[in-house]
Amino acid sequence: MNDKMEIPVDIPLDDNGFIGRECLECERYFKLKPGTGLPTKHCHCPYCDYEGDGNTFWTKAQIEYAQSVALNQVINKYLQPSFDKLNKTFKDLERKSRNSLIKFKFKVSNEKLELPIKYYNEKELETYIVCDSCGLEFAVYGVFARCPDCAELNAFLIYDKSLDITEKKLFIFLKPEIPNDIRMDSYKFILFDCISAFDGLGKELRKKVQNIFPERPKNIFQNLNALDDCTGNIISNSHSNYQFIFKMFQVRHIYEHNMGVIDEDFIKKLDGYSDKLGMRYNLSEDEIKIFIQGMRELGLIIKKYLKP
Ligand SMILES: [Zn+2]
Ligand SMILES: [Zn+2]
Repeated sequence: MNDKMEIPVDIPLDDNGFIGRECLECERYFKLKPGTGLPTKHCHCPYCDYEGDGNTFWTKAQIEYAQSVALNQVINKYLQPSFDKLNKTFKDLERKSRNSLIKFKFKVSNEKLELPIKYYNEKELETYIVCDSCGLEFAVYGVFARCPDCAELNAFLIYDKSLDITEKKLFIFLKPEIPNDIRMDSYKFILFDCISAFDGLGKELRKKVQNIFPERPKNIFQNLNALDDCTGNIISNSHSNYQFIFKMFQVRHIYEHNMGVIDEDFIKKLDGYSDKLGMRYNLSEDEIKIFIQGMRELGLIIKKYLKP
């Protein structure tokens, strides 16, 4: 027998066709669907910067399973025949000694040499993603991740998904059976949702894309003018409705901190509201709809800015 032998073992997919993966470096778990994405054997960890051959991403459970399957094959191929032979020798001895003075009696409790196979289940994960760049289907803990195939950040995809959900929420609030005051009140939450999705996008981009956004102001993705300044005014120059979304950011501010009542700061930043000081800003259905579209456009502008 060679001292090295190779035994191929198939690693099963889960019910949805995904295979578990574990990073060698950060040891975190994710899943991907073989057959989708790029035709590559290379893999990027969605969480950390480790990348390497796909063969370095086996999970501990998969390795233990493969070892137990392989070991049983070795037993079947090499040890079982010797065991059977030994068994036969003992049985012959027993038969031959049947009429002798000294009798041999053998009892074999297990005719087959077998080790237990270490079965396992792939884990359930929190976010399932289809990479919008290469089509790979994968799943991760948390929300933000890089695509294991093409290493594209999913931050913009997640941002878009959040806006989709916000749009669905709006659709529900617009149903005729919803009382008017509840509907009107929901608009501010739609506003909050959109801006916090954008802020989440910004936080992730700051982490993953170095040296693009300044350290201060800290919440630059909540401060449209500061963001516009640091991107060389690309937003104000290319957004089709910049003044409007800028205004909506200020409206969110007074809703967050001043019950929606127009304050000095609001008047200072926006023309045409000086006679409205102390009055409540009433959001309309149209404004909210236009705002969601404006936020989508804003995301696209930032994406293009980072990767022209
Ligand atoms: Zn990792
Ligand atoms: Zn991809």
